[in-house]
Amino acid sequence: MRRTAHAVILSICFILTLTACSNSPTGRNQLLLFSGNQMADLGQRSFEEMKQSQPISQDKAVNTYVQCVTQAILKVVPPQSNFSEWEVVVFDSEQVNAFALPGGKVGVYTGLLNVAETPDQLAAVIGHEIGHVLADHSNERLSRSQLAALGLTITGMSLSDSPHAAMAMAGLGLGVQVGILLPYNRAQESESDKIGLQLMHQAGFNPSASVDLWRNMAKASDGAPPELLSTHPSPNTRIKALESGVSHLPNVPHRMKAQCQRPRTN
Ligand SMILES: [Zn+2]
Repeated sequence: MRRTAHAVILSICFILTLTACSNSPTGRNQLLLFSGNQMADLGQRSFEEMKQSQPISQDKAVNTYVQCVTQAILKVVPPQSNFSEWEVVVFDSEQVNAFALPGGKVGVYTGLLNVAETPDQLAAVIGHEIGHVLADHSNERLSRSQLAALGLTITGMSLSDSPHAAMAMAGLGLGVQVGILLPYNRAQESESDKIGLQLMHQAGFNPSASVDLWRNMAKASDGAPPELLSTHPSPNTRIKALESGVSHLPNVPHRMKAQCQRPRTN
């Protein structure tokens, strides 16, 4: 009994001294319990797993298109300290979904291209997802879920051990894959929207396409909701906030818009 109490106190001390209370890119307070390297490692390992288990699109036109849009966005993303290169993979799936993971991994599902109707709309999704990475949202979400699930015993935890692995995948936003849904919260969503708008703007895309994109997404949810919406709740207030964000974008220099050829979809 005394031992347990001692361990708890030690855990609390450990957390209090090591906890990173930092600020997000928009100045929000964040509780980040994992290091950037830990998160990058986790993202990279999860991505490898996905590449092994899910079909990758071999369609040349689709790959060229997605790479074209994503690389245009990545040109305006500042260098990251925990990894040197971004990797972009197109998964062959009807899922209307895309994600970006810590460690510089971007996944786009071919199904998304039926809803994102233009290069600008695709750029809106990619910019938004990369926004989640730049603002450490996985770390924040994982920190919160682990604290809730494990109390304060987080110190001895290894992210690669089962059953933590499934929760870790969910923390990365890959909940659709492992059946644990941990949607981003509203503050994270609107933060990613803001970062995404800036990235689109700087990359030369039309930021107001983000409004069209989320409208399309809402329309597409008449039947079964798109997977992206299950982890990205998208109330009407979000579309309003995006409209306002578009009209308040700073007048910064931006690149020439990349000419990306959207392939025919069925
Ligand atoms: Zn999001």
